[in-house]
Amino acid sequence: MTETWNWRIAARCRVADADTLFTRGRVQREARQFCTACPVRTECLAHALDHQIDIGVWGGMTERQRRALLKQRPQVASWTELLQSARQAYYAALADAAASRDGDASAAGCSVVESSAVENRAAENRAAESTAPTCGAQDAASSTGS
Ligand code: SF4
Repeated sequence: MTETWNWRIAARCRVADADTLFTRGRVQREARQFCTACPVRTECLAHALDHQIDIGVWGGMTERQRRALLKQRPQVASWTELLQSARQAYYAALADAAASRDGDASAAGCSVVESSAVENRAAENRAAESTAPTCGAQDAASSTGS
């Protein structure tokens, strides 16, 4: 989540009436619901935390919540990097889970294919045995009557 793209373009409050986001006090607790459907909520929150913006609702957090978070985690040098890493870890975990599910499904598919291949080979062997030509020794033995 670098600041190379302008996340503000996608901000929900850019196009919708967001006056309530800049209320003060307790009203912010309800106002922050507005951010729930915002596609750039994480970027917005990271920006507010990195710049220590303490007025209004940003990224779905009230002023008070952001102050508490900054106080709780004073060692964080870049909220943008921290939240980006968390997002990447989240998506990586999702991808692993999906790959694991796909792997299980294809492993199950492989075992079905393998078992039918084994059955096919067994059937081919049985067919081959029943139609196998007799060898010359057997021919010679039968022709001599022994
Ligand atoms: S998360 Fe930020 S950008 Fe999105 S609606 Fe809320 S205040 Fe606006």
